[in-house]
Amino acid sequence: MDIEQRYERDFITWLERIEKDLHISAQDLKSASWVREVFTTHGELPSARFAHLAFEHRANLTADAVASVTTAARLDTGRDVSLAPYLVPPDEHLPGGSIGVAESDVHACDPVGILVEVADAVQTFVADTYGVVWPVCPDHRSGVHPTRHGSDAVWWCNTGRHMSEFVHSLRR
Ligand SMILES: [Zn+2]
Repeated sequence: MDIEQRYERDFITWLERIEKDLHISAQDLKSASWVREVFTTHGELPSARFAHLAFEHRANLTADAVASVTTAARLDTGRDVSLAPYLVPPDEHLPGGSIGVAESDVHACDPVGILVEVADAVQTFVADTYGVVWPVCPDHRSGVHPTRHGSDAVWWCNTGRHMSEFVHSLRR
């Protein structure tokens, strides 16, 4: 086993321990470049210490995503979409803490995954609260759904099987 293989093995072992201790999916952790940076810098950080670091990262990314997606929703629909993320820090009952928006938990750890989950939550909120389909594909006038496409979060149109727009695009 060379040094890179050993590094990768230790990284995965560490992620699996975090998954077990904090109930954060190892797959979600592996998708986030900042998690690998933490491992490269600090090595196998104990789960309880990592919990606070992860909470802060994920809370900041979620707050950014909520601000961006709710602004787009408000401008597009003209409705009040003033949602704030709920942020429950890690404690003995919830070792990984809890993050979400509009009654939907956010599970992802990377910016793109978080943007997709937040977009989905805001879309559901707009539909449930106002009975409004948002957003719609400008070409086909039908609803679109958020998904990961390459390294971007996009609104995907199933009618035309194409990307409608980037989730982070702000309209004016
Ligand atoms: Zn379309």
